[in-house]
Amino acid sequence: MDLYEYQARDLFEKYGVPVLAGIIADTPEEVKAAAEKLGGVVVVKAQVKTGGRGKAGGVKVAKTPDEAYEAAKAILGLDIKGHVVKRVMVAGGARIEKEFYFSVLLDRSNRSYLSLSSVEGGMEIEELAVERPEALARVEVNPLTGIDKPKAVEIARAAKFPEDLVEKVSDVFVKLYDVYTGEGATLVEVNPLILDADGAIIALDGKVSLDDNATEVRHPEHEELEDKDAADPLEAKAKAAGLNYVKLDGQVGIIGNGAGLVMSTLDVVAYAGENHGGVKPANFLDIGGGASATIMAAGLDVILGDEQVKSVFVNVFGGITSCVAVADGIVKALEILGAAATKPLVVRLDGNQVEEGRVILAAANHPLVTLAAGMDEGADKAAELANA
Ligand code: ADP
Ligand code: MG
Repeated sequence: MDLYEYQARDLFEKYGVPVLAGIIADTPEEVKAAAEKLGGVVVVKAQVKTGGRGKAGGVKVAKTPDEAYEAAKAILGLDIKGHVVKRVMVAGGARIEKEFYFSVLLDRSNRSYLSLSSVEGGMEIEELAVERPEALARVEVNPLTGIDKPKAVEIARAAKFPEDLVEKVSDVFVKLYDVYTGEGATLVEVNPLILDADGAIIALDGKVSLDDNATEVRHPEHEELEDKDAADPLEAKAKAAGLNYVKLDGQVGIIGNGAGLVMSTLDVVAYAGENHGGVKPANFLDIGGGASATIMAAGLDVILGDEQVKSVFVNVFGGITSCVAVADGIVKALEILGAAATKPLVVRLDGNQVEEGRVILAAANHPLVTLAAGMDEGADKAAELANA
């Protein structure tokens, strides 16, 4: 989960990383009030989960509360790379002497952490990374030892920070690393990290990505950071039902049990779709080990709620969960859904108690359900129905 700048700012503050005051506001009036409260020069900043806000006109300096009001009017509603601004942060205005860059991230390919830093931070960092990669110091961070003070000093020196700043910035690097490990992040990035006119080092912008796998057990409090409004409603519904669901943009809804089977079902459906007008999988939905009527109904409900879906392919291999339970689940799910079930369903069952399962579905003789003998046949039928 990527956080908004204001959420990153709050986490930074919690770990003692120096930040400026920030007040969240949704309307120009609130922005004006926030600017009055902060006093002096403020900066009105679009809160969207994408970089390059400054260049897109989403960061504006305001000398007075009235200017802040006008800045808010210009920024709220602005479209920044497809993200519409609904909220801004009114931040204290910094007097910037120099802009630096620092990040620490998960380096999957090396099974390690990596820190990137530069004394040339600011809005052109992406260009810098491409055009003069030597200006960006890459220092591997051993996850077992992390960024302690000596390591932070090593990083600061690698990035060629002026010697009189090494002490101060390395203290901040240590705290940013505390945010990284303390919160279970996969990325903590500060751009710019600044030196201000009073000689203080301050994190002026922050990007934090949290590891979603850490939320359930280690960081239940992260649940609150999630942007419920922005989440896809179907994904939210699936999540609430405990289903693994990913929306794709095709027309054939897919339900399977086990990630491996669902993945191969996606391939087989995409392949079959080539003979049927190029239809593609509409989603990934893994009902996991259980195939009770409630889980099946929840799964079907999610998929049928997707307007793009024209047909559904249920592909289940009975293991611990027998095909009888799955077939019962499908029949009862269709009863539960009633008139809400409107799209054709192709069902392929195999494995434990397959014959008994097929008998149950045949006996129910539901007008929307077609039984398929194998996976290829089922995929082909589902693709054909989606293209009808
Ligand atoms: P983005 O990275 O999305 O463009 P930033 O928060 O980095 O957004 O802001 C862009 C630029 O605006 C910064 O590089 C900095 O020069 C300036 N800026 C941002 N916040 C402040 C602030 N609180 N005070 C003064 N200048 C700021
Ligand atoms: Mg920035």
